[in-house]
Amino acid sequence: MLDPAGVDLPAPHDHQATTTERGSFCTARCSCGWYGPARRARSLAREDAAAHLHRTAAVEGTANFRSPSA
Ligand SMILES: [Zn+2]
Repeated sequence: MLDPAGVDLPAPHDHQATTTERGSFCTARCSCGWYGPARRARSLAREDAAAHLHRTAAVEGTANFRSPSA
């Protein structure tokens, strides 16, 4: 929604997701510049972060093709 245009992506594997609390909401953020929607529960923000990390790993085509739910 508020994605700034022309963001230079850092190193492919530079994804360090954290959660930031603002008021009663919690937002997942990543070192790559990504951030998720505001959540009322930190657990949901963490799920957003996990989904982002999983998604980026898939997009970047890591050599690990095993099921993540192993
Ligand atoms: Zn990221």
